[in-house]
Amino acid sequence: MEPDIDLENKQISNAYRGLLRSIQVELSNEDKRFIRKAFNTSVEAHKNARRKSGEPFIYHPIAVARICAEEIGLGKTSVACALLHDTVEDTHITLDDIHELFGVKVRKIIDGLTKISGVFDYTSSQQIENFRKMLLTLPDDVRVILIKLADRLHNMRTLDSMARDKQLKIASETSYLYAPLAHRLGLYAIKSELEDLSLKYTEPEVYEEIQRKLNKTKDVRARFIRKFSIPIKQELSDSGLKFTIKGRPKSVYSIWNKIHNKKVAFEEIYDVFAIRIIIDSELHMEKADCWRAYAIVTDHYRPNPERLRDWISHPKQNGYESLHTTVMSPTGKWVEVQIRTERMDEIAEKGLAAHWKYKKNIQAIGREPQQIGIDVWIDKIRELLENKDDNAIDFMDELKLSLYAKEIFVFTPTGELRTLPSRATALDFAFEIHSEVGAKCIGAKVNHKLVPLSYELKSGDQIEVITSEKQNPKEAWLSFVVTSKAKSKIKSVLDEERKRVVADGKEILERKLRNIKVAFDDANVQELLKLYKLTDHSDLYYQIAKGKVDFKKIKPIVIKGGRLKHGSITRTIKESFESLIDRVSGKKEELILGEGDGFDYKLSPCCNPIPGDEVFGFITIRDGIKVHRNTCPNAKQLLANYAYRIIKTRWKNQKILEFKSKIKITGIDDIGLVHKITNTISKDMNVNIKSLKFETEDGVFEGDILLLIHDTEHLSGLISELNLIEGIKRVERVEIMSE
Ligand code: MN
Repeated sequence: MEPDIDLENKQISNAYRGLLRSIQVELSNEDKRFIRKAFNTSVEAHKNARRKSGEPFIYHPIAVARICAEEIGLGKTSVACALLHDTVEDTHITLDDIHELFGVKVRKIIDGLTKISGVFDYTSSQQIENFRKMLLTLPDDVRVILIKLADRLHNMRTLDSMARDKQLKIASETSYLYAPLAHRLGLYAIKSELEDLSLKYTEPEVYEEIQRKLNKTKDVRARFIRKFSIPIKQELSDSGLKFTIKGRPKSVYSIWNKIHNKKVAFEEIYDVFAIRIIIDSELHMEKADCWRAYAIVTDHYRPNPERLRDWISHPKQNGYESLHTTVMSPTGKWVEVQIRTERMDEIAEKGLAAHWKYKKNIQAIGREPQQIGIDVWIDKIRELLENKDDNAIDFMDELKLSLYAKEIFVFTPTGELRTLPSRATALDFAFEIHSEVGAKCIGAKVNHKLVPLSYELKSGDQIEVITSEKQNPKEAWLSFVVTSKAKSKIKSVLDEERKRVVADGKEILERKLRNIKVAFDDANVQELLKLYKLTDHSDLYYQIAKGKVDFKKIKPIVIKGGRLKHGSITRTIKESFESLIDRVSGKKEELILGEGDGFDYKLSPCCNPIPGDEVFGFITIRDGIKVHRNTCPNAKQLLANYAYRIIKTRWKNQKILEFKSKIKITGIDDIGLVHKITNTISKDMNVNIKSLKFETEDGVFEGDILLLIHDTEHLSGLISELNLIEGIKRVERVEIMSE
């Protein structure tokens, strides 16, 4: 279809008039003639050109010029340059023509814009640095960068008509270079529009999805903000402030960024609320009014002391002024509150445009003259670009905070503030809430994420304690709690618990001894202590109650009259054991295991001997020689009844063969612990795992691992290695039950 030229011409002059109206600086007649000349030159140069969308090309330079004027606040030179920005690159017009028509200043800017378009075709991240250097050395005038940003913004707004591959290239370039640049220059509105637009083209489905969810939750969020605002609104009005409160919708991009980088769900981000209180304030009252509003907000809602930012006393380098705080709502949600005046709000959104608007007023009260005037402002941009450490203010904030790092401030799910010493863990927090909560604590959610009890808290964390009726304080807890409250409570519970166990053990022993007609008295208990190699009565009772005492050992030491006698009996057994072996094997012949000497033997599955164990051989009727450990539960019975079938046996030093052995590991369940264990076993110690089984209950895990190892030395090396792993409470060799 033929375009309607008359209609187009009408639209073009409308667009041009709109551009003139959007200029926020006063223009002399000469300025107006200058801009008109630039417009005419551009119209003439581009007259036959059309954009991909089919519309006359001139729409584009007009739109770019309008962004420069309206959204960045630039004046006549920039507007003229924006109108001309594509002429040298795309048309017959030369730089000399531009020089002749508009003078050297415009020539330089157009020259810069033409050269820069090549620079923007980056291929690697190294280009970022080159780009920065180019920005510094190439354009004499930083207006080049601002016009380039406006150019890119308009291209992004009209990206629909481009081919898909071009869309992708332009969009990713935008998020990579232009959005950060806009951010650095304090052009927040442009920055977030660029980010949203680039996401729309690089991740269209994600963009749509977030957009859809935002729309769906709009009402809920609006209701929350309304409710949250009621009490502050009332009091702000009562105190005579003129203000508006706005919910601050997050940009699609910023939500995506959080989902992407912090790996959290949309549902956990969308309800991170932010409101903005914008005060209509007299220039000389700005600071006082903002702090008055701050006082009112924090009277109603408790602020997170770590999240106060005063960019009014110290504006950001890009001119941003505002007061930020984060407060806890009654429902336990964090709400970021930004407090600023209308002037500050406009500067924050528009950057330079607002500076122009307020220039005269600020001059009138003689405040911060360095913040006004386009040349000074542009110098500031140059400074910003030259300053590598662009987070100087943030860095100072961090530094100040770290000076007060001896204490941390954390929150309950309902928003109650708790102060804890630094390095406090989730478990300390649980005990801080209540000692019963601590005692039953099996884990916690910090900022919605599940963490182990030993998780070290940071200021601002919000913690939800998870408890279980089955939980009881563990000895291992003492190794990571830091508050004395937690420590003493854990100790006292452990003591109580131990006392109860000891009492049980004592009863069990009394009963056992009564059954075999042995007196339960001090002398006999002393003999038992010797037998089990313990020093303390309560230790003995404790072990008994925990089922760790083998009562079978008692019988052999019973001597008449209900007396126990340990010492000599063992010697007897040991002597007879060894002498029996000697006697039986007679010829001093030994079975040497691990040597290919023709002996047909098997390692008995009842005790799974491994090299290094003290062992003996037992001649079976049909199964050749079986090797048992001296400590095998069957040893005594075999010795007593079949002494003549026993063969003296020892291991040959060798490390070639592998033997089955089983260990039991207990500890506190922790993410990655199983990995660490298996890693230690198979990598560090070079041991083969035959099978493993882990079970976790209430955060305590128990693991049974069947290993193939060389000898006892090898095994004890592994056990001590495993004991070094954090979270492991005990590693022990256990009998292999089956087979
Ligand atoms: Mn352009």
